[in-house]
Amino acid sequence: VRYLMYKDVQREISLPHAFLKWITGAGIERGQRLRLRRFFMSFASYTMWYVIAVACWEAGLLDASGELVVISGVVMYASQLIFYALLRSGRNLAFKDPAMTVPQILVGLAWALFLIAVSREIRGVMLTVYMITLLFGIFALDKRQFLITGLVAYVGYTALVVVERVRGLTFFSDGYYLVSVIVLGGVLLWTTMFGSYVSDLRYRLQARNEELEQVLPKMRELADRDDLTGLFNRRVIMDALQKLKARADRTAEPFSVCIIDLDEFKAVNDKYGHLAGDRVLVEFSETMAQELRGMDFLVRADTAFGRYGGEEFILLLPGTDMEGAQRCAERLRKRQQEYRERNNALPCCTLSAGVAQYAPDEDIDALLRRADHALYAAKHAGRNRVALAEDV
Ligand code: GH3
Ligand code: MG
Ligand code: MG
Repeated sequence: VRYLMYKDVQREISLPHAFLKWITGAGIERGQRLRLRRFFMSFASYTMWYVIAVACWEAGLLDASGELVVISGVVMYASQLIFYALLRSGRNLAFKDPAMTVPQILVGLAWALFLIAVSREIRGVMLTVYMITLLFGIFALDKRQFLITGLVAYVGYTALVVVERVRGLTFFSDGYYLVSVIVLGGVLLWTTMFGSYVSDLRYRLQARNEELEQVLPKMRELADRDDLTGLFNRRVIMDALQKLKARADRTAEPFSVCIIDLDEFKAVNDKYGHLAGDRVLVEFSETMAQELRGMDFLVRADTAFGRYGGEEFILLLPGTDMEGAQRCAERLRKRQQEYRERNNALPCCTLSAGVAQYAPDEDIDALLRRADHALYAAKHAGRNRVALAEDV
């Protein structure tokens, strides 16, 4: 029993909560949620205007029967219910403007015109509701839509004036009518111009944002790459190394680095010129990248090959111990040697490499230093070979 009571209490708390969450569209797609939020904004302002209208009617400021005030409220809320149903069912997505801004503004203008029509001494005040309704368009209307809604507002009020004049209403003087039509015309024109200026700005900003969004990945790509070889640059390699270290410290997963230096590269520069040296570097990078792609049994997706310095390169081998790294470096060395033998007419260099496996809690700098020492040893032992770093 106690369990059931507990369940009951829980349901009592969670049901209204769940209902509220459903009403406000929790968990629906972001664009729709935004539109729903805008809908609630206009719904709240309708409610505010309705409360004001009822209060004015109570105070005898509106020339309308009680039924008319109730009916206007029912019509207004019914229109809002339709907008809400369209939004919740997703049918609005089939429209050109899923936010339904123009229809919403037209309904708002109709409601404002109703308030204007039934007011007498407070007509001037009620005319401001017109402006506010139009201003909602700043978020969504383009220039043409702004002009159309502004024109609808103006025609609506002018038609009201004509009808009242034809019916011979005597509350307002000719002067009042004339001035209100002229001033409203001016104010609406100004609102429309201001609104379309802002919406123009909004469109331009959006276009600029889209442009930036397209350019940004390209910029990032450029910032991550070495100009000459297209390989990752030193900064990216150092970042990747820090990440590898952090993961290794957490999971005890091994990783290794391999520093590669071209043998007697300076001789190429001296003999054939700097440009030929550059071409050697580019060709070397391509050969290495190709060989690495063929080594997927050893090399993982997060393996990174980058340019470490002038003619020095670095290879990061995640999940690879010293033995695996040595095999990999050896394959690269052989590949480059073969390449050189096949193209013996062209300037080309063999490579030497120093391999080091990360030791637990070792500094990145210390790891690189060990690999560098191994490379130095490889050079010392006659070049075109792979040397392993000493243990820490
Ligand atoms: P070792 O076998 O001992 O490595 O001999 P090495 O001639 O390769 O000697 P070292 O590594 O000291 O020389 C590197 C040379 O690479 C020096 C520099 O002029 C040249 N170099 C560095 N960056 C570039 C570059 O971007 N393009 C060209 N063409 N040459 C470069
Ligand atoms: Mg060097
Ligand atoms: Mg060198």
